[in-house]
Amino acid sequence: MKTRGKVIVIGAGMAGLTAAHFLVEAGNEVVVLEQDSRPGGRIQSIERNGDTLDVGAQFIHTNYALTLELTRKFNLESDLAKMQSSDMMLRDGHFHIIPWGSVRVPAISLWSQIKMTRMFLPMLLRKKHMGLEGWPGLLDMDKLELSTFARLKLNEECLDYMVRALMLTYSMSEPEGISLAYFMRSLHMYVTTGAHCFRSGNDVLPRAMARNLDVRYDTTVEAILGNDVVRGVRTSRGEIEAAGVISAVPSPALLPLYANWNADQRAFLEQFAYSKMPLVLYEGELPAAVNYWGGVFDRKAGHRVSFITFPHMKYERASKARYLLAWPLGSLGAELIDSPEATVMQNVTTELRRAMPVEAASLEPSCVVRHPHTYPQYRLGMFEMLLRFKAAEGKPSGLYFAGDYNDGGLIEGAAQSGYRAARRLMAS
Ligand SMILES: Cc1cc2nc3c(=O)[nH]c(=O)nc-3n(C[C@H](O)[C@H](O)[C@H](O)COP(=O)(O)OP(=O)(O)OC[C@H]3O[C@@H](n4cnc5c(N)ncnc54)[C@H](O)[C@@H]3O)c2cc1C
Repeated sequence: MKTRGKVIVIGAGMAGLTAAHFLVEAGNEVVVLEQDSRPGGRIQSIERNGDTLDVGAQFIHTNYALTLELTRKFNLESDLAKMQSSDMMLRDGHFHIIPWGSVRVPAISLWSQIKMTRMFLPMLLRKKHMGLEGWPGLLDMDKLELSTFARLKLNEECLDYMVRALMLTYSMSEPEGISLAYFMRSLHMYVTTGAHCFRSGNDVLPRAMARNLDVRYDTTVEAILGNDVVRGVRTSRGEIEAAGVISAVPSPALLPLYANWNADQRAFLEQFAYSKMPLVLYEGELPAAVNYWGGVFDRKAGHRVSFITFPHMKYERASKARYLLAWPLGSLGAELIDSPEATVMQNVTTELRRAMPVEAASLEPSCVVRHPHTYPQYRLGMFEMLLRFKAAEGKPSGLYFAGDYNDGGLIEGAAQSGYRAARRLMAS
């Protein structure tokens, strides 16, 4: 379907690239504007000593229908590796190993596990797909605060060692202030899907997509132009006229780009938040006993780094056994996100060595990757505000929204949001 003229897509992350891909496939003229010098946004891979390490998105889940369709389209299927490993949970100073797919979690009492299953299994069985719209009871669950719900309906152990661990590792949020609806989405992902990653680094997909598109790098969009009707954008390199614009940037980055948001749009953009984190890569000698991919630390014991991952455990021979990624989410991440690199490294190293003195003894920090928009945080009432924000699309006319926050987060949410924004624009 042809649009009436050139389309600008702001942002070359998965949302923007997917929107641009489908627009170009339908014969449209599309320019993608990206402030960075590479495509992929939060899908980011770096080279170290001949190894490729993902320092952004880690998993491609088996229910990512559109992401996997794009993987096939770009002939990358053979690059996918199945991730098969174990996790570790640190509780009361003990390391508990949990093989992936295991139904029994040794760190947690059987009674708490039964309580969790009895509470959430019936809700999960009613939710069959990943999209937001159509979730049974979405808006009711949007009004229930997760930590209060878990404390009242389950128990403290479930809150601290199951709900919190899941929210941190699958949704990068602490449960406090988060809606039950968002937890259900994370839980659904945890129990129903497996995970893959690309051997060449997860950014191989956005890189392949970007190669077929007109992407202008190092070009920051400063404003969306037009009052009632969009007429283009102003960038760090000058103005570009267009008949349609798709914004595919995280919502906090969208807010300053347009002056005349209506009340619902402004309320959502001002209040919707992402978790923040400076991810720290460590290098050095790892003890042979490290035989798990992810390790969750113990908030009750005062640990401030949320979790760690060992890239070599992603799949067989994924990399040399010499790296650790430390994920300081929650208050530590928010405190450190804008600090100088040396301060980030010093604080995270102190916390890491306090939590696992033996494993981290000979590791040194080697780089910091800042993620100011890690995952969207669906705090209380945010799904309802999001639905109102989406209903206000078309004001101004010609402006469409993509980005992971539109579709519940993650790579697949971003891809789906881009596909849908392209469809809406072409149908207009
Ligand atoms: C550390 C980490 C781990 C993750 N793990 C997983 C995982 O295992 N599985 C999973 O599915 N998801 C994971 N995610 C989330 C996933 O990466 C994101 O949901 C998804 O990549 C978001 O894509 P997007 O296109 O919406 O946004 P982004 O990737 O943020 O893309 C937005 C792009 O817009 C650009 N931009 C912003 N403002 C402007 C401007 N004014 N002008 C021009 N360009 C601009 C940015 O530079 C960026 O390239 C993870 C994220 C992080 C940070």
